[in-house]
Amino acid sequence: MSEEKKTPVKKKKPAKAAKPALVIVESPAKTKSIGKFLGSKYRVESSKGHLIDLPRSSMGINIQNNFEPLYITIRGKGKTLGELRKAAKNSSQVLLATDPDREGEAISWHLGRALSEVNPKISRIEFNEITKDAVLKAVEHPRDIDMLRVDSQQARRVLDRLVGYEISPVLQKKFGSRRFSAGRVQSAALKILCDREIEIESFIAEEFWEFDAHFSGTNSKPKDKETLFRLAQVDGKKVAVTNKADADALAARAEAAEFKLASRKTSERRIKPLAPYITSRLQQDASTRLGFRAQKTMSIAQSLYEGVELGKEGSQGLITYMRTDSTRISATGLEQARTYIGQAFDAAYLPEAPVQYSKKAENTQDAHEAIRPTDVSRTPESVEKYLDRDQYRLYALIWRRFVASQMTSGVDELVTLEVHGGTKSTPGTRPSEATTELHGGTKSAPGNSDDSLVFRYSSSRQVFPGFRAIYPLGEEKVGYVPTFAEGEALKLVDLIKQQKFTQPPPRYTEASLIKAMEESGIGRPATYVPTIGTLDKRAYIERKGRQLIPTKLGRVVNDIMAAHFPEIVDLKFTANMEEKLDSIAAGENDWRHMLGDFYPNFHTTVERAGDEIADQTHLVRIPLDRDCPKCGNKLMQKLGKNGYFIGCSNFQGGCRFSESIPLGTCPVCGGSVVKKKGKKGRGFFGCANYATTGCEFTMLETPAKRTCPKCDSIMGQKVRKTGITLTCQNPECKHVIEETAEDMPADNTGEGAT
Ligand SMILES: [Zn+2]
Ligand SMILES: [Zn+2]
Ligand SMILES: [Zn+2]
Repeated sequence: MSEEKKTPVKKKKPAKAAKPALVIVESPAKTKSIGKFLGSKYRVESSKGHLIDLPRSSMGINIQNNFEPLYITIRGKGKTLGELRKAAKNSSQVLLATDPDREGEAISWHLGRALSEVNPKISRIEFNEITKDAVLKAVEHPRDIDMLRVDSQQARRVLDRLVGYEISPVLQKKFGSRRFSAGRVQSAALKILCDREIEIESFIAEEFWEFDAHFSGTNSKPKDKETLFRLAQVDGKKVAVTNKADADALAARAEAAEFKLASRKTSERRIKPLAPYITSRLQQDASTRLGFRAQKTMSIAQSLYEGVELGKEGSQGLITYMRTDSTRISATGLEQARTYIGQAFDAAYLPEAPVQYSKKAENTQDAHEAIRPTDVSRTPESVEKYLDRDQYRLYALIWRRFVASQMTSGVDELVTLEVHGGTKSTPGTRPSEATTELHGGTKSAPGNSDDSLVFRYSSSRQVFPGFRAIYPLGEEKVGYVPTFAEGEALKLVDLIKQQKFTQPPPRYTEASLIKAMEESGIGRPATYVPTIGTLDKRAYIERKGRQLIPTKLGRVVNDIMAAHFPEIVDLKFTANMEEKLDSIAAGENDWRHMLGDFYPNFHTTVERAGDEIADQTHLVRIPLDRDCPKCGNKLMQKLGKNGYFIGCSNFQGGCRFSESIPLGTCPVCGGSVVKKKGKKGRGFFGCANYATTGCEFTMLETPAKRTCPKCDSIMGQKVRKTGITLTCQNPECKHVIEETAEDMPADNTGEGAT
């Protein structure tokens, strides 16, 4: 942005106007607000991201010369760099104001090297928020480039380049396709997803039973009888009933038992506020609470950080820098929060002293702050009219979480009721038959113990909301507490027994993958989004709702990586590399030394893999004994972005014929059943001959792998919670098979779900 000339000159101009200082930021969105804060003595320009980097077309690292990177001006960025050079030449000094993290430090370093020949007066300024105070303070405290941070960033760049550019050609050669590539952090993340998929596939559902009961006392209120008590213990052990016979026996035993309210305990629980957001937690919460993808969260957060037009106030940064793994809060932040809480709430909500959240000793990048509003007095409601809906929702989340972090704990009251029951103890009564049956008649019944069956009910009630007044943890459930007195004899009203099946572990979502990456130490604030983005871009994962599912392509790559590059996909190894990058920034490790430690073994592994990995083209291109209906060449089964499909072997020659893999035989005309796209993009299955002969056969259910045992036709499968229903699609047969989880074969997944 060029400086505006103001026509009404109030002050006398000095004889010769001093040259302004040049401030360079990373993104154009920031130039306006920063320019206004600094006034006419400064000129603010943007580098529009990276200008200098490793080349794309070659490795760009001189490994023999101690891993010297060969940096070049990024294609298309020459003009921007030229303009910055010109501006630097006409400036009194250059202040590099890129983002306050390692990547920003590296951008400043590159800029400094490129501009020093035209203006040697170059220094770095850093601010964590784009507010007038922070920016003015920063220009008063210029410093030198922090080479430790730069070196850590260089080490990351070179390390990722070595891994990506050495492994990918091996994969591409073995698979005979340029679609295959590998990278450092994303290979470890892909393995997390593939391991879970294998767990799900090999999962065998186990049957278990749950028992709930209603009780009534002498003077019960109607609501007392509606309270459901869960059977928690039988004969002093956890309930472990795994079949219907045992369930019936236990039910009979309970129905024959006598009950009383054994205990009624009240306890208090303190619920502590949560630390203010760091990047990963913000991404997780925005995903679960607002349904945002991590990428979306970060771009909205960036817009809030860079500045939003606030009417008369002009453009203001609303939150501090959004890439951070520190929960530290500055003195200003603490003071603002406490002032606000003191004014908006009564004294019970303000702790005596400010709360600092202990930061994890490891993994903490530099001296950052948590993500917080730059001015707590700007409540979400007061700025709502200046924000779009998503900006408002994210700002409100950040604002609430931060203010809540400085409030007092909430208090809940927990009431737990225990109903004990056992064999009727009237003299002369024999133990019920059910009891004997449950124990197989071999052991004696549990005597006259009256607590062999333990039912439990608990309910919690909010006594004091504390921080939850501003940051609710979910809907408040006010549980009813039955009026039964301790020792009161109770009558069993009814017993409800339910057959259940254990569920496989859930697939990862973005939120849970980021959590897993954070917990295993393989992610950093700046890398979560790019890592998932790369898996998306390479079609190694697909999304089903919020679930992330590895594709066939992703599975194939992961198998090869796990077998031949075990270290690269190993979480501990990857976490260890990330720690080493941190230690370089902390000045405890030399970056070239670290690469020297890593590279020789790695390179040997790559060379060995090149020899050992057998040709994998059979996984990518499978010849078929069918001619292409378009050009007459042979057809092939190929592995593409969306899994396998049928394509022409003459693709190189220009034939673009393709069709879906047949999932079965059409029961009407004998053609192939393939997956088709419906009007609203929803998939369905139908006969491939629709286009040629007009066969109208379609099916809504997913084709099953097995055919009908009666007529050998294609069957559709519907997965229920407790099993699978298979329906024969032959209109003259319509045979139905119901399978519960118990008798399901291990391999029950049909190809190509909708
Ligand atoms: Zn063809
Ligand atoms: Zn057909
Ligand atoms: Zn049939």
